[in-house]
Amino acid sequence: MIKLFDLKKQYKLFDHKINKEVLKVLASGNYILGNNVTKLENDMKKYLESKYTLSCNSGTDALILSLRALDIGNNDEVITSPFTYFATAEAISLVGAKPIFADINPDTFNINPMNIKKLISKRTKAILSVNIFGQACELNEINLIAKENSLYHIEDCAQSFGATYMSKQSGTFGDMGCFSFFPTKNLGCFGDGGLISIKNKKHFDKIKKLRTHGGIKRNQHDFIGYNSRLDEIQAAILCIKLKYIKKLLKQRKNIAEKYYNLICNEKIKLPSCNLNANHTYNQFTLRVQNRTKFLNHLDKYNIPYGIYYSQPIYKYKAYSNSDYKLLPMVEKVTKECVSLPIYPELPINDVNNICKVVNRYE
Ligand SMILES: *Cc1c(COP(=O)(O)O)cnc(C)c1O
Repeated sequence: MIKLFDLKKQYKLFDHKINKEVLKVLASGNYILGNNVTKLENDMKKYLESKYTLSCNSGTDALILSLRALDIGNNDEVITSPFTYFATAEAISLVGAKPIFADINPDTFNINPMNIKKLISKRTKAILSVNIFGQACELNEINLIAKENSLYHIEDCAQSFGATYMSKQSGTFGDMGCFSFFPTKNLGCFGDGGLISIKNKKHFDKIKKLRTHGGIKRNQHDFIGYNSRLDEIQAAILCIKLKYIKKLLKQRKNIAEKYYNLICNEKIKLPSCNLNANHTYNQFTLRVQNRTKFLNHLDKYNIPYGIYYSQPIYKYKAYSNSDYKLLPMVEKVTKECVSLPIYPELPINDVNNICKVVNRYE
């Protein structure tokens, strides 16, 4: 049976090293924001070539903390993609601002910078770009739009750990880059976790307070903050896995290359690569016109798949009271997208079988 993902396999790969470090943490008596967290933040700073990094509780919190650090809230607008995980827009709404959705490029699934420009208003405070499926969006162009209009730029890098744009790591273009260590992401821990890469010392200081109830010292609460800390166990695991990230990303790329080389079916559209970006394939997402028929075909041969995403964000019930207009590209893509299994431990034989089944579809 082929699996859509298989997290146990990656644990097996590192189990001795991970068990040893986790036992050390358990015996240390220090469980939250300790030496392992500091080491992870330093290792990440080096890996990303980022000015500052701070860990937190999740990718969602990374977004919320970033928006709060920029004082984005009531009556503010943040332009983002409608084709992303719900948390991207949810974070904007949670700080009191309004998500404004810019339509996507249907070939790369990423936000189209041309559509961002049209939506800038007096209320716009920031652009929250999303590097969807592990491929950076047009980060330089978006940075330029932000600069010309005095807007902040936050990158949602939950799916793009290790991805580059013009040889520079995603998450280092905007004022902040928000990463998630949810188990199925490119770099996953064994629970929830997140990290923010930050350009500016002022924002770094603010986020450091925000993640621990608005202060860093005992009895210091300068503003209303959060409990959003990373624990030592997750940090220790992430420090180990970070050493192997290049290999893990290479394995994803090898599988994607197999898909590109072996899938040949005029009914199937393969995902496009932006030549400026190095895709990390957190997802490998196809488009097919009669999706129901295609999914029945995959079901018949026991090929697992995911539908990321079946609806534009503005269509979820949570936003049903808002006055969002339908955006043509995301409407089309949400009806056609299908993601095939892709994770470092997926056996090549399974990939071959998936390709055969996809090619047999007519
Ligand atoms: C996973 C994800 C998030 C949220 O990350 P969590 O760590 O699960 O909170 C946000 N944005 C995108 C695009 C994601 O894929």
